[in-house]
Amino acid sequence: MTPRPGRVLISETELRARIAELGAEIGRDHAGEVPVLVGVLQGAFLFMADLIRAVPMDVTTDFIGVASYSVGTRSSGQVRLTSDLSMPIEGRRVVIVEDIVDTGLTLTYLKRTLEARHPATLRVCVLVDKIERRKVEVALDYVGFTIPNVFVVGYGFDHQGLYRNLPHVAALETDGPDPV
Ligand code: 5GP
Repeated sequence: MTPRPGRVLISETELRARIAELGAEIGRDHAGEVPVLVGVLQGAFLFMADLIRAVPMDVTTDFIGVASYSVGTRSSGQVRLTSDLSMPIEGRRVVIVEDIVDTGLTLTYLKRTLEARHPATLRVCVLVDKIERRKVEVALDYVGFTIPNVFVVGYGFDHQGLYRNLPHVAALETDGPDPV
């Protein structure tokens, strides 16, 4: 059976409310500064768009692309950069905006890569934390939601390129009939 979006884990209303709180927290921690929010492509683009509008101050934005070689819904742990930032971040206050932390390998790679460019501060904001699956410890500064070990789709999360445009986060499920 083809896997399809099933049970809603995080509703549109819950997303909106929590992202407003995250934006306020980022604002408080960067008062008097102009942080650069770095969205991780592709999954974080919707989260990034909503989050920056919830930060009550001037910010700049940039994007970075990473790919982890995956097999089905399992990540292999090998990460590579697919597109780089457009501007230097030396001396800037940087917030990485990531969709999900699973094993922690992608974020560890990203933090190491950006730290090497000497930002003034480097913080991490993730929408979803799958803490049970962690293989390497990685410090997170802002966490939207903690979820159990289920593969999620919607609100930027895809399965084989599909379902990013759902307004909520749902579990990918295989039980249920195929659409006709
Ligand atoms: P990591 O295992 O390195 O922490 O996460 C690697 C990447 O796997 C994430 O950035 C995300 O793109 C993808 N990923 C992990 N869990 C899920 C999930 O439940 N749904 C989707 N669509 N992608 C996931």
